[in-house]
Amino acid sequence: MPTFSFHAPGAMHLEWGGTRRLGELMSQWFEQRNLLIVTDKFLHEAGLLEPAKDSLKAAGFHISVFDDVVADPPESVLMSCVEQGQQAKADLVIGLGGGSSMDIAKLVAVMLVAQQPLSELYGIDKIKGHRVPLVQIPTTAGTGSEATNITILTTGETTKMGVVAQQLYADRVLLDAELTVGLPPLPTAATGIDAMVHAIEAYTSALKKNPLSDAFAREALKLLTQHLVTACTDGQNREAREAMLLGANLAGQAFANSPVAAVHALAYPLGGHYHLPHGLTNALMLGPVLRYNMAKAAPLYAELADVVLGASDDSVEVRSQRFVDYMQDLMNRSGAPQRLRDVKVTEDSLPTLAKDAMLQTRLLMNNPVEVTEADALALYQEAF
Ligand SMILES: [Zn+2]
Repeated sequence: MPTFSFHAPGAMHLEWGGTRRLGELMSQWFEQRNLLIVTDKFLHEAGLLEPAKDSLKAAGFHISVFDDVVADPPESVLMSCVEQGQQAKADLVIGLGGGSSMDIAKLVAVMLVAQQPLSELYGIDKIKGHRVPLVQIPTTAGTGSEATNITILTTGETTKMGVVAQQLYADRVLLDAELTVGLPPLPTAATGIDAMVHAIEAYTSALKKNPLSDAFAREALKLLTQHLVTACTDGQNREAREAMLLGANLAGQAFANSPVAAVHALAYPLGGHYHLPHGLTNALMLGPVLRYNMAKAAPLYAELADVVLGASDDSVEVRSQRFVDYMQDLMNRSGAPQRLRDVKVTEDSLPTLAKDAMLQTRLLMNNPVEVTEADALALYQEAF
């Protein structure tokens, strides 16, 4: 077996309605009591935090809520969150929300005690020293950010930079699917497809794929494919919501160790130029990239066909094609937009998008098939 290592958050707890007794849980887990909750205004104003806050106050926690996180957060959001945490003397951080809130929470937990400026943290393993305890509570089943050690910040008009470090893995993850029941069908579909992309890309990743990331990816994809359509059409369905949240988490653990590739590389420029949600951009590019990668990934797609559709004696060609067709059909049934033109992407912007996608070398190097700028343009044209 080739050498590999696998990293994950310290511990995970799945409990329907767990945030209603968050104070009790947090008291069992930590001694610190000055808590900074990192979230966004929409969740805060929708009242989603109230049960958690009541429970935390009853358990003796002092709470400061930072609710200025926005999608694709810029550095300034991080810095004002750090400042608020310092003023509150926070010694404990919870990220509660979608990927952006959890991403900010990771770096805030570091910067509350770090001696390094933010500019020194970009890149891989640049953080020296520790952070304050960190808990992640996702409110969407998609990004898997609660399971990863990456924070992405927006640093320019269309540019982003990442911090990757061991310190960004949470101490605890709480998976409370009750928090996700209010998510409307479209974001449920887009975030769910994003999670499926994480599982598929981790499973076919060219460089760091390993037996553990494979196991997580397979189980993730099984859960996600079985429950996506129900979660979209019957949002109150507890079984579907829990399966999606767990599936997204397992997919996150898979791609934290076996990184994503061309779907994400082609999705990022769409997000940057058109400010489309991350999950949606991935959903739009999945079909074309699956078909493109067949050249090398067919044996792996055949294995995934066995996972999601049941084992079969048919040839690799037949099973891999069956998998690609099944994924396309699933996306159609989820109700997510299917073409770039449906979300107002213009045809004359495709060459610029292709050029920008080439900058995602960190991701493209993981793709099973090489992607040139001409290939990227052809993929955007197929998706258009
Ligand atoms: Zn993603």
